[in-house]
Amino acid sequence: MDCPYCGKTALFMSSKDFYGKDFGSNMYVCKSCDAYVGTHGNSKAPLGTMANAQLRSLRKAAHSLFDPLWKGRKMSRDGAYRWLQDNMNLPADKAHIGMLNDDQCKELIQKLKTYRFGAN
Ligand SMILES: [Zn+2]
Repeated sequence: MDCPYCGKTALFMSSKDFYGKDFGSNMYVCKSCDAYVGTHGNSKAPLGTMANAQLRSLRKAAHSLFDPLWKGRKMSRDGAYRWLQDNMNLPADKAHIGMLNDDQCKELIQKLKTYRFGAN
């Protein structure tokens, strides 16, 4: 995998080597950009795209607004992800917060605020 910020090949390492603690997964890391992404368990399959500090905090903010949609049983988890697809115009395989870029995160955060708090 190439770092989306500088284009260099990302380092592939275990979560243990990265965090000093074994989370049972691997990581793609670019140290110069402080960008990384984890993998599905011990596989090489990334959970999304690599994110730097700014994108990580945007994704965190988006998750904190999105997850209550289905955790609060207002809708099912599948329903919440369909809402994400419809509102962000994304195909199912791209409708995950871990795949979104900065602009998409900002757009989603705005839409979630409007949806949840009716701030029209
Ligand atoms: Zn980089």
